Amino acid sequence: MNESTPPLTSPISVDAIVVGAGFSGLYQLLLLREKLGLTVKVLDTAQGVGGTWYWNRYPGARCDSESHSYAYYFSKELLAEWEWSERYPQQPEILRYLNHVADRFDLRTDITLGTKVLSAHYSEENNLWHITTNRGQIYTATYFITGVGCLSSANIPSIEGLDSFSGQWFHTGEWPHEGVDFTGKKVGVIGTGSTGIQAIPMLAEQAKHLTVFQRTANYSIPARNKPLDDTFRRFAKENAQYFREVMTTNTNAHPFRIADRLALDCSDEERNQIYEDAWLKGGLQFRATFKDLLQNPQANQTAADFIRNKIRQTVIDPVKAEQLSNIDHPFAAKRPPIDSGYFETFNASHVDLVNLRETPIECITPQGIKTSAAEFKLDMIVFATGFDAMTGSLLKMDIRGRNGLTLENAWHAGPLNYLGLQVPGFPNMFTITGPGSPSVLCNMPPAIEHHVEWITHCIAYLRQNQYNTIEANQQASEDWMATVNAAANETLLPQAKHSWYLGANVPGKPRVFMPYPGGFLRYRNICEEIVSKGYAGFMLEHESLGQTDK
Ligand SMILES: Cc1cc2nc3c(=O)[nH]c(=O)nc-3n(C[C@H](O)[C@H](O)[C@H](O)COP(=O)(O)OP(=O)(O)OC[C@H]3O[C@@H](n4cnc5c(N)ncnc54)[C@H](O)[C@@H]3O)c2cc1C
Repeated sequence: MNESTPPLTSPISVDAIVVGAGFSGLYQLLLLREKLGLTVKVLDTAQGVGGTWYWNRYPGARCDSESHSYAYYFSKELLAEWEWSERYPQQPEILRYLNHVADRFDLRTDITLGTKVLSAHYSEENNLWHITTNRGQIYTATYFITGVGCLSSANIPSIEGLDSFSGQWFHTGEWPHEGVDFTGKKVGVIGTGSTGIQAIPMLAEQAKHLTVFQRTANYSIPARNKPLDDTFRRFAKENAQYFREVMTTNTNAHPFRIADRLALDCSDEERNQIYEDAWLKGGLQFRATFKDLLQNPQANQTAADFIRNKIRQTVIDPVKAEQLSNIDHPFAAKRPPIDSGYFETFNASHVDLVNLRETPIECITPQGIKTSAAEFKLDMIVFATGFDAMTGSLLKMDIRGRNGLTLENAWHAGPLNYLGLQVPGFPNMFTITGPGSPSVLCNMPPAIEHHVEWITHCIAYLRQNQYNTIEANQQASEDWMATVNAAANETLLPQAKHSWYLGANVPGKPRVFMPYPGGFLRYRNICEEIVSKGYAGFMLEHESLGQTDK
């Protein structure tokens, strides 16, 4: 069936359509159904639930958040019964967890898989969203809620000649379920972001020869992954409420606090010892060593220098060491990866590094990749080139609000959005972890839980007060985008010119800092304050009374 196949059956009417069956969609379904008693349909292109963890099956795929925090916290029973096996669970384990959630809360009955949403059009006549799918089904719903993920639209760079490549190629975010055998193969990998950094050591273990094509050198901290013992598991469960409290009251929703000290207040010796301890401990907590790392360039420089030295100490070949440590942005201004043996991998004689800044890719040939310096013969190419982040999956749907306004038009200059929750002109549409919310700057499950609960509370309020629609106010949305921008400018984040936070990895995408960098706690407080002021900045409309501008 192609994507324009006409409807096969009559429209199905529900209260809410939720797109996506990952962390967001599963919890949104549960709350709307159980708390509000709504009829809900969740639609997902995938053949299984799990979202990110359904699609990203590349070797080495795991989360960087620690397992006890990369989970739902809404259910004590769920927290008590689930056992994580490692400090950072691998993709299959997270996928098992999300399948368990779907079964445990009996969610599958309201999820239709293998179903891509092609369009969602709002009709002012009947205040309904009309949603069409690739299977020819039409749904009508009062509420249209997207849980389509911030990192779910694979970004495959358009490189001339890819079609002519005689070997196989893969994108990490659309990995074949049957796996890929790299044994004895000459493999090229493009991309050294979080995903490349996870995959490269694993690919090197299998491949006969691995060529890493690097555009942007990256910082990475050792993950120090390990199996979890019963003592830690018990500790995490017994202290679940403490961890929840920490995650929901700090800047990044991780289960650790950022140290209340400034990097430059310490002597060089003290500071180095702090970094050394954090390096040995491993993981994202390295960022939490000083509170000014993302604000003060000199403070950041101390962390950056420490990591660069570590890279130079680890990588034996001085040319590779220089290329890997020649990093063009402040530490943590791009998504900061953590790794298991990434830099060590470059000491293997069968692993080469190509610096694309010096010798850019010209094209892909039938035999491999041609840069301005040489042609590299390859059997397989792995694109670890990330995603059209935050807006990609939303814009791929044909979403139209009032007066036929397309989301594409509404966002021509960047993703205008109020709180990352609603777009002006699109009544009763909610975007879980949409652009303008802290989302990807956080450990995401707490950010998702917050949004899902906010949306549920909002819909309950609408129904209790006989409001037919809620819609973000244009001015409030513009002000919010200015707030996001100002918060970004208080940090070093915009200095990473090639960052996907800015949309810079996708040609033609407006350069706008997309996630809200003001911190999770601050954001939650703003959202609460807006609710306490009767949804200030949103317009709520009664059927008969007309519009109330808040
Ligand atoms: C490799 C990788 C590692 C990550 N590691 C971490 C980590 O360590 N910590 C962290 O906090 N976050 C991490 N993330 C971010 C991760 O995406 C979130 O933590 C979380 O899984 C997002 O859940 P979600 O339900 O919002 O979206 P997703 O899990 O992305 O699910 C979205 C779903 O929407 C579906 N969809 C999209 N468009 C349509 C359409 N038109 N029709 C039908 N279905 C559609 C997709 O098929 C997908 O299944 C990682 C992401 C990746 C890619």
